[in-house]
Amino acid sequence: MKIVDHIKNAKGKTLFSFELLPPIKGQSIKGIFDAIDPLMEFNPPFIDVTYLREDYIYKQHANGLLEKVAYRKRPSTVATCAAIMNKYRVDAVPHLICGGFTKDETENALIDLQFLGIDNVLVLRGDARKSDSAFVPTPDGHAYASELLQHVVNMNNGRYLHDDIDNLEKTDFCIGVAGYPEKHFESPNLDTDFKYLKQKVEGGADFIVTQMFFDNRRYKAFVDKCRENGINVPIIPGLKPITNSKQLMSLPKVFHLDIPLELTEAIQSCKSEKEVKEVGIEWMIHQCKELKEMGAPVLHFYTMGNPEPTRKIARAVF
Ligand code: FAD
Repeated sequence: MKIVDHIKNAKGKTLFSFELLPPIKGQSIKGIFDAIDPLMEFNPPFIDVTYLREDYIYKQHANGLLEKVAYRKRPSTVATCAAIMNKYRVDAVPHLICGGFTKDETENALIDLQFLGIDNVLVLRGDARKSDSAFVPTPDGHAYASELLQHVVNMNNGRYLHDDIDNLEKTDFCIGVAGYPEKHFESPNLDTDFKYLKQKVEGGADFIVTQMFFDNRRYKAFVDKCRENGINVPIIPGLKPITNSKQLMSLPKVFHLDIPLELTEAIQSCKSEKEVKEVGIEWMIHQCKELKEMGAPVLHFYTMGNPEPTRKIARAVF
């Protein structure tokens, strides 16, 4: 079922969902099931699976020369989605990225998703490869999420890249995009970033999932700005509790967000990492209760494959 229909059917009740990473190449799907099982008691109507672009590694040969090799550490997003749908009978939402795909490969992947009965996709530009200092589009691939979105919208209207094929089937994907309450890090300012978000919604996006945030006022200001500017699609807050003290530095660095002073000081005054985790979880419980009161359609957790903190939070909130 489409995410927008899950939200409609919930009639104002806040839903629970989460995302995880596909298995590391060579590892069993069991690790994914172990990460999902503890969260099934909260009836997620959908589970997201992220997509990771290939990176480069250097292989050393016997003669000492290094060879640059493209390598995808977690290659199986689509298969992980199929396994989740088969085992749990919930909707799996693959993240679809621009990086690493030509337009033709993107189209073929979307056809596979349609055949598998996947109704929703989250379209993203994707992160830069670790080995690149900035995002580099794939030759003949899409450069922005809005272009990838347009591609899916075209297929939903029965328009494929090659118009010499007969009896083209219209796909029927419900399409999500990313939004950044504290702005995307490459954007010169919030308004410019917002302009491109609006372009994605006007281009056909059905819902928005936000980057994580630790201050609900940021989410509220973002939702208000969207509504004032005619963006009326559901805005799903993306959430992640702080679980160790190193994240005070790593989360702002990686995700370009602010951690409020009160939370920072509470973590800095902890005597152990166990205490840090408790503080992080308590903070997130408070945030989630407030977001429910604010009418957030879904609380969407970035679990990164570790379900325990999310389970504690969901037990306190749902
Ligand atoms: P875009 O919407 O394309 O925006 C990228 C930047 O370009 C922004 O600064 C925007 O303001 C600007 N911009 C947009 N359109 C234009 C234009 N036409 N001209 C000029 N500038 C423009 N990454 C992964 O690799 N895999 C994942 O699975 C994944 N999942 C994510 C899930 C969520 C909910 C979120 C919030 C992020 C996720 N990311 C993922 C990270 C995301 O790919 C990065 O943040 C990426 O840098 C931007 O992606 P986007 O889709 O927001 O890009």
